[in-house]
Amino acid sequence: MSRPQKYRHVQCTPDALYFKPRAVPLCNLEELALTFDELEAMRLADLEGLYQKNAAARMQISRQTFGNIVKTARRIVADALVNGKAIRIEGGVCSVAKKEGFICDDCSHTWVGDAINDICPKCKSGSLARTREPITKPKMP
Ligand SMILES: [Zn+2]
Repeated sequence: MSRPQKYRHVQCTPDALYFKPRAVPLCNLEELALTFDELEAMRLADLEGLYQKNAAARMQISRQTFGNIVKTARRIVADALVNGKAIRIEGGVCSVAKKEGFICDDCSHTWVGDAINDICPKCKSGSLARTREPITKPKMP
């Protein structure tokens, strides 16, 4: 009895998708796969410090599913760190939140964000429009 897997909502995708121990040739390395939903679960639980209930809600999955995902993710990362294995981040049953561009009607401030917070981060105006340009990930300073 297997149900089709539910999409897991992922808010953040990493820039770096491959991690390996330094100075070990790839051919001598064992590689582990970490899926985007596993990484997201760890991000919410361990970086943002959310309770499992809230983290599960963010990913739009049950708390039990979240618990399983985060447990798997931690085991993979621990295995890589302890045993010197590489991690490739890929795949998973995920829907990635689209970032959208906004422009403030009042102060003309533009920014990229989720469509959830619909106020201008600069002047707190609620009068916004979506920008039409394709959105690229903001560069790190
Ligand atoms: Zn504004």
